[in-house]
Amino acid sequence: MARINPPFKKSPWIFHLNTGGCNACDIEILDALTPYHDVERFGMKLVGTPRHADVILLTGPITRESKIKVIRTLLAVPRPFAVLAIGSCAVGGGIWFDSYATIGGLPNLYEEMRHKYNFEPPPTIYIPGCPPRPEAIIFGAAQALGILKKKVKREVYKED
Ligand code: SF4
Repeated sequence: MARINPPFKKSPWIFHLNTGGCNACDIEILDALTPYHDVERFGMKLVGTPRHADVILLTGPITRESKIKVIRTLLAVPRPFAVLAIGSCAVGGGIWFDSYATIGGLPNLYEEMRHKYNFEPPPTIYIPGCPPRPEAIIFGAAQALGILKKKVKREVYKED
């Protein structure tokens, strides 16, 4: 019995995904990345593709137009990974929760993906606010780090 060595002991790479938000949440994410808040001191680094990511930062209520792209993104991320749903839109649709043009937030997408793609939702931190402050985003990211570590510790495989 051996433990899989986690590929991201300390430096999770993050992918930023806007699913149709108004951009204010995205600006707060950028604020968290600037030298003032300096989230890179925790080793967090933006990457350009979900295939390299350990954490997905998701903003927006998931418009019907963006839904298939969000599904493809979540299916493309290597396991294990975590999601930070940032802002009231991502948490539950926000003011668009019953709009014909959105699906009303990430939990609804997880439900649909569970049925259609047999998708097991990853550990997800929900950070409400319209938009949330950078401090809240950084706190959520630190929570995600803790969850990632626990999840990696649970994964074992047997040798023949
Ligand atoms: S939660 Fe508020 S700030 Fe964030 S995308 Fe939605 S409307 Fe914009």
